[in-house]
Amino acid sequence: MIVVVASRNENKIREIRNKYSKLEDMEFLGIGDFPGCPEVDETGSTFSENALLKAREICSFTGEISLADDSGLVVDALNGEPGVFSARFGGEGLSDHDRTDLLLERMSSVPAGGRSARFKCSIAIVHPDGREYSTEGICEGLISFEKKGTKGFGYDPVFVVNGTELTMAEMDMDQKNRISHRAEALKKAESILKELLYGNRN
Ligand code: IMP
Repeated sequence: MIVVVASRNENKIREIRNKYSKLEDMEFLGIGDFPGCPEVDETGSTFSENALLKAREICSFTGEISLADDSGLVVDALNGEPGVFSARFGGEGLSDHDRTDLLLERMSSVPAGGRSARFKCSIAIVHPDGREYSTEGICEGLISFEKKGTKGFGYDPVFVVNGTELTMAEMDMDQKNRISHRAEALKKAESILKELLYGNRN
C-alpha cells in the first residue's frame, strides 16, 4: 500500500518512514515522486483545516492515500499568534532566526507569568475512497526571554518545554521526538494507518 506524504521536505519524509518502519506493507513516497503535483495553498484558519486541504488535494492528484501535516506555535499573550502563520510570521523572506527575534521583541513587555504557549501539529490522512481522518498533538511550554540552544529549527530556541528547564533547541533529537507535538500526532496517526492496512488499529 502506498502513502504519499504531502511534502517535498526529505527530512520530514525520512522522519515519517523511520517512525513507521514497522508498517512494512506501507511504502511512504513524497510528492517529489509525482511530477506535476500541485502546490497547495494553506488557506485554512486552523492547523487541521490546512492539513486536510493538503491531504485531499494530493490524494485526488495521485489517486493514493495521502498524509499531510501542518504545525505551528500558539502564544497566549499574542492572542494565538503566530499560529497558522508560524512559517510566515513577520512576512516572507525572514529566516528562522529573524522570526524568533521578532517573537521575543513582541513578547518583551510580557512578564514571566504570562508567557504560556504551545506547539500544535495536525495530521490528516485521506483515502481515495473518501475516508478522512485527522489527529492532533500538543506540546505545552513557555516563551523564554532569550534564545538558548542550537539544535532543532524554527522557534525551538525560545520554547521552554513544560516540566523541564530546557528549550527545545537544547534537547537532542531523540528527546524532542519523545515529547513533541509532531511525535504525538504521528503516534495517533499510526493507529489509523494500521486500520487502513489491516482493518483494525492494533
Ligand atoms: P510546517 O507545518 O512545516 O508548515 O511548519 C510551520 C512552522 O511552524 C515552521 O516553519 C516553524 O516555524 C514552526 N514549527 C512547527 N513545528 C516546530 C517545531 O517542532 N519547532 C520549532 N518550530 C516549529
